[in-house]
Amino acid sequence: MDFMVLTLFPELVSSFFEHGMISRGIEKGLIKGDYINIRNFSCDRHNTVDDRPYGGGSGMIMKIEPLQAAILHAKKKAPESRVVLMSPQGNRFSQERAFELALQNQGLIFVCGRYEGIDERVYTTLVDEELSIGDYVMTGGELASMVIIDAIARLIPGVLGSCESCRSDSFTDNRLEYAQYTRPEEFEGLKVPEILLSGNHEKIRLWRKKSSLQRTFLKRPDLLQKGCLDAEEKKILKQWGQELESLVKE
Ligand code: SAM
Repeated sequence: MDFMVLTLFPELVSSFFEHGMISRGIEKGLIKGDYINIRNFSCDRHNTVDDRPYGGGSGMIMKIEPLQAAILHAKKKAPESRVVLMSPQGNRFSQERAFELALQNQGLIFVCGRYEGIDERVYTTLVDEELSIGDYVMTGGELASMVIIDAIARLIPGVLGSCESCRSDSFTDNRLEYAQYTRPEEFEGLKVPEILLSGNHEKIRLWRKKSSLQRTFLKRPDLLQKGCLDAEEKKILKQWGQELESLVKE
């Protein structure tokens, strides 16, 4: 899968492609990571990429001409790719959207805004989708594009060491992941739950399912409302309710 980032700060993005899981995915030929400096497509000898907003107001707006030229250049390199504008006003990126985009396996061209944003006509004529990483405003789209690339790339088979871990990741099937432990067995009086040391796979599976449900219920009850409970989950929650009730009675 091809990822291309259009930015005024290529150094921010280049080091991202050179480290960790992303660079290993690139080395294995499973993904491609590239970037284009929008300033290379400015139309005057001062390399201008922004201008004052019509109607007045503070800040600068990224001009359409360099952005259009950069996007068309990127599309020439990767004609099948979708153009995605980073914007706080876009659809909220989620694990579900990450799965969809990884499955589609269509290249993505990320357009990173800076300053007060971009000329509206870029959005209306050159962009396939507008994505936000949350309800806050950052100074540029580079971090947002890297967040999205990272979340998608780890779902592409082979990029992570084991795909097993993706399946139990938080937000898969609207649940948070169960509690995890590693050595030592005891730390400052805090012990690892005994079942996890038992080697009994069925009991461990049930313990993890309960842990996942409890954490979702306590931390993100909104997720439980999205996906329905299966019979086993209903049983686990019922048992938990009874355990809590008996605590109150004691
Ligand atoms: N004035 C714009 C507004 O209020 O909608 C915000 C512009 S912001 C300072 C500059 C750039 O950062 C945006 O064009 C966008 O590319 C990026 N950006 C900021 N917050 C973002 C977010 N939550 N998600 C994705 N991109 C964001």
